Amino acid sequence: MVEVGLCASCTQSRTVKGKHSTYWVCRRSLTDPTFPQYPRLPVLQCRGYEPKKQPPA
Ligand code: SF4
Repeated sequence: MVEVGLCASCTQSRTVKGKHSTYWVCRRSLTDPTFPQYPRLPVLQCRGYEPKKQPPA
């Protein structure tokens, strides 16, 4: 399994299921071309990272 890194917990990510694997798409790339549509994984640092809110414990 591929390490995803920050995208896994970022509000800007979404996944696209392919035939053989799952692709991670960065939605910031839709409005900001400096972000890659398909980030190179694992993403360890990202200036656009926006953590998903954790549900209350
Ligand atoms: S903003 Fe960064 S961390 Fe978030 S989905 Fe895009 S590339 Fe991944």
